[in-house]
Amino acid sequence: MLDADARERFLRHILLKEVGAQGQLKLLSARVLVVGAGGLGSPVIQYLAAAGVGLLGVADDDRVALSNLQRQTIYRDEDVGAAKIERAVAFARSLNPHLRTVAHGEKLDRGNASRIISSYDLVVEGIDSFAGRFSINAACIETKRPLISAAIGRFEGQISVFKPWAGAALPCYRCLVPEAPPREEQVNCAEEGVIGPLAGVIGSMAALEAVKEIVGFGESLAGRLFLFDGLSSSARVVKLPRDPGCADCGRIDRR
Ligand SMILES: [Zn+2]
Repeated sequence: MLDADARERFLRHILLKEVGAQGQLKLLSARVLVVGAGGLGSPVIQYLAAAGVGLLGVADDDRVALSNLQRQTIYRDEDVGAAKIERAVAFARSLNPHLRTVAHGEKLDRGNASRIISSYDLVVEGIDSFAGRFSINAACIETKRPLISAAIGRFEGQISVFKPWAGAALPCYRCLVPEAPPREEQVNCAEEGVIGPLAGVIGSMAALEAVKEIVGFGESLAGRLFLFDGLSSSARVVKLPRDPGCADCGRIDRR
């Protein structure tokens, strides 16, 4: 049952027939891990805290830098130098004091990803490391946790949902990106810049996909890649095929 505070706080959700009180109860019992408390993580943390997920975990080992403030909107000028997880969790709790939070001050890698992810129902990832993404992808497959993966660069963004065990044709992140690009390309990518509001566009979409997965309405982006171009203000959705020889999902059991 929703108490009086929850009925008022989440009224605009409850009014939606696709969500309703039952959907809000699902959100209130959901455990979501946000990996990366940066440009994409900021709106994800903000909207999931506001939407009333029960438990929000945040994983990041970075500190707030002055150059982050152009797009990482949960941090303020006075936060420069502070640990991101500490300030991100404080921000989320100030938005919704009923929220339970867990701060993971470490990078997710092959050694710890499965252990950390297994405590959650769903993972939203917005990091800039291919090695980290591969570790998270493999751990999400192993633990059967849906993975919402988003990326931005310059004026373009992309997002998809990966849960290859849920359907014979569904891909994982590694089906889309089999190997990390050469190091020079990755360095260029980090130095090429990104337009600030793009983090809000794509990060907010990641939060929306998370809510859809938890409540179970609408059409999931699983098997599809949403591509946004901020220069032309246009978007398209392309089918993402499964790679039968994929190193991460090639041999798993599928429904
Ligand atoms: Zn795969």
